[in-house]
Amino acid sequence: MPSLKPVLIAGAGPIGFTVGLNLARRGIPFIILEAADRIFDDPRAGTIHPPTLEMFDHIGVTPLMLDQGYVVGNYHYRDRRDGLVANFDLGVLKDDTPFPYRLMLEQHKICYILRELLKEYEGCEVLMQHRVTSIIQDEAGVAVEVESPQGKKRLEGSYMIGCDGGRSQVRKSMNVTFDGFTYEERFLVLSTRYDFGQHGYALTNYIADPQEWCALFKVPGPDGNGMWRVVFPADAKAEPAAIFEESLVQARVQGFQHKDTPFEIVHRNLYDVHQRVASCYHDGRLLLAGDAAHINNPLGGMGMNFGFHDAFNLTEKLAQVILDGASHSLFEVYDRQRRTVAQEYLQRQTIENKRNIEQKDRSQQAAFYDELRAIVADRDKLRTYLLRVAMIEGVRRAKSIA
Ligand SMILES: Cc1cc2nc3c(=O)[nH]c(=O)nc-3n(C[C@H](O)[C@H](O)[C@H](O)COP(=O)(O)OP(=O)(O)OC[C@H]3O[C@@H](n4cnc5c(N)ncnc54)[C@H](O)[C@@H]3O)c2cc1C
Repeated sequence: MPSLKPVLIAGAGPIGFTVGLNLARRGIPFIILEAADRIFDDPRAGTIHPPTLEMFDHIGVTPLMLDQGYVVGNYHYRDRRDGLVANFDLGVLKDDTPFPYRLMLEQHKICYILRELLKEYEGCEVLMQHRVTSIIQDEAGVAVEVESPQGKKRLEGSYMIGCDGGRSQVRKSMNVTFDGFTYEERFLVLSTRYDFGQHGYALTNYIADPQEWCALFKVPGPDGNGMWRVVFPADAKAEPAAIFEESLVQARVQGFQHKDTPFEIVHRNLYDVHQRVASCYHDGRLLLAGDAAHINNPLGGMGMNFGFHDAFNLTEKLAQVILDGASHSLFEVYDRQRRTVAQEYLQRQTIENKRNIEQKDRSQQAAFYDELRAIVADRDKLRTYLLRVAMIEGVRRAKSIA
């Protein structure tokens, strides 16, 4: 192979590491440039869907994830006042995927696994505290300027992949827009070791309510013994300190599950919530994947999974371009495949999830519950529904796009 300029990857998040590992396995050198001094471990993604487990299984990562995560074979849709509406059994997907379940594993642990695997390869560098500030490209490659503890540096590469999240500097350097909207609401995530399982909750629960819906999940937590995360809507204009205030936080959790003593709240985090997709995922030698390309509300646990699917798709095409001299028109195929499904599935499904869980019209809410009950009562309907929400249909649809 001729000596190659490295591919530059902005962002050491889950998607940046996945792009890196896929390139490393093909012998393509790369440098990950990360602004922060460490991998973020705030409570964000925790749900991994079947097609993601299939993709990672091909490169030997899934067994490592299974070792650390919780296998969740069913989840609940609930009403905050009336309790269980429908129990979704993912086992119905057993002929569609070798992984008919969700895996609960925190996203920073996935990053740790991927970073560890990269140590087996040569030609890969991960540079922390290297913030990408500007990018230029020409026919032959890309040049980026970074800020680092040693001052400004200039690096050259063959291509630049923006895996630098929702505020992507790479995307801002491209001739694209980031279309969509931002909700006038934030999501409050509380973590507690309190075992909600003793009250009949599944390991994943969506709890609808016109005033204050919530979502409740169990992830392994720092010691692997379990941590429950509770997600609530929060006022976009209120000061974080007011939202995090102890008595208010207690009232929120007590509001859907009474307990005689206060809950021990381990973490409190607030997130802005957007629904946006970049108008194009490539511009010459600059390419986007993950949150840099699309962002969405986390109900349904889809954003990171979708970014992984981008990363596998993109690296296969990039390898054909770099190693086999294939044309850049493959990037147009990447854009068509992944951006189409970002609109048709990721955006549509997550917007619907939020609308349904907060439905204020009681008759529409009752109709939605009836629909869910009809789905779980009929195996064919359940399979069709779960193929969509477990993200299998989106991957199949992307493959069908030329
Ligand atoms: C509360 C919550 C729950 C969620 N739950 C789920 C879930 O269950 N399942 C799911 O699939 N998704 C979920 N998501 C979404 C998921 O967290 C994101 O989709 C995921 O983090 C995207 O990964 P990424 O690597 O694209 O970007 P990020 O994780 O944002 O990583 C981007 C990295 O780029 C770095 N960076 C930024 N700018 C620069 C720069 N200029 N130079 C260098 N580095 C830079 C950042 O420091 C960061 O490390 C959730 C999100 C939230 C907020």
